[in-house]
Amino acid sequence: MEVYMNNYFDYLIVGSGLFGSIFAYEATKRGKKCLVIDKRSHTGGNIYCENKDTINIHKYGAHIFHTNDTNIWNYINQFSKFNNFINSPIANYHGEIYNLPFNMNTFSKIWNIRTPQEAFNIINKQKSIISTTPKNLEEQAISLVGTDIYEKLIKGYTEKQWGRDCKSLPPFIIKRLPVRYTYNNNYFNDTYQGIPIDGYNNIIKKLLNNIEVRLNTDFNLCRDIYSTISNKIIYTGSIDSYFNYKFGALDYRGLKFETYKLEQNNYQGVAVMNFTDKDTPYTRIIEHKHFEFGNQPITYITKEYPSNWKIGDDAYYPINDDKNQKLYKKYFNLAKLNNNIIFGGRLGEYKYYDMDQVINSALKLVTKELN
Ligand code: UDP
Repeated sequence: MEVYMNNYFDYLIVGSGLFGSIFAYEATKRGKKCLVIDKRSHTGGNIYCENKDTINIHKYGAHIFHTNDTNIWNYINQFSKFNNFINSPIANYHGEIYNLPFNMNTFSKIWNIRTPQEAFNIINKQKSIISTTPKNLEEQAISLVGTDIYEKLIKGYTEKQWGRDCKSLPPFIIKRLPVRYTYNNNYFNDTYQGIPIDGYNNIIKKLLNNIEVRLNTDFNLCRDIYSTISNKIIYTGSIDSYFNYKFGALDYRGLKFETYKLEQNNYQGVAVMNFTDKDTPYTRIIEHKHFEFGNQPITYITKEYPSNWKIGDDAYYPINDDKNQKLYKKYFNLAKLNNNIIFGGRLGEYKYYDMDQVINSALKLVTKELN
């Protein structure tokens, strides 16, 4: 392995996910010397896919690209065209099937009604038990869709996913989901949506083309080598891990995946099925081929189990409650004292970012740092 002098690189980028790869690409384009390191054995962070029998398996959870921002859509389209996949997940509650997001198909099945007015009347009546501004996820959910849907399609799923009571979760999480009085099963409201035709891995490959990348390299295990070889560090791991958890660890939710190959061509007829009861131990089953309209004779499915996160596990979801936001702020303020390190991405910024928001954040940093 080549050993570099102090400040040999302009930027050391820790983590080769979407944030790190975009920053590295844009910095390199502007003549900066970059080194990207990643503790995993592959690049791409959580958008990495494993191709098996011509099916792209979303190894770290389903990634469906969607955005309302034309600039971000055009930006990502430089690296791959997208197919016309529209996420229309199904909720399975003890074997009863409902459409998501919450819309007229859901309402008509749950209450045997037909019109938006009928749905509105029922929801309005059920939500009247919440009279003040919702203070937690439970109150927010009931005031959006009423108690029946809360009990069948939200409570069990959410408490499994986050490992805590809906009363102790912030309201904003459920506001990610549309509620519609039309028969429209599109999970997202965004103008642009799809899965990259060339695959997520190819996007990362193009971004990191001609940039030195070192895999299986954990910054926190070899700081002696890596903390001095660049003028600046872009750190996309969790901010608390960089500071060695000195104020205590931030909370995250973890995930475990079980993937099976099945000798049948179509297992569940949809890419994403949510299991919304509290007894089924997994939250969803992903059938990967449906993201790309595959017609292979076999299929791959992944069961997604939420898990208690502990230091050393992959961190998936930040838990943005008051306690953790306060702790994050302490790390954020500490980070501000050092001009040579910048934190970015879902873990670095401790934000429940979607992919388009990660791109937006990376491009903002590019403007601030490189223009
Ligand atoms: N949610 C739910 N039932 C569902 C799907 C989602 O209650 O069938 C709630 C749940 O609280 C979840 C939130 O909506 O945490 C956001 O879901 P989303 O699909 O955006 O989560 P992600 O895909 O990021 O895991």
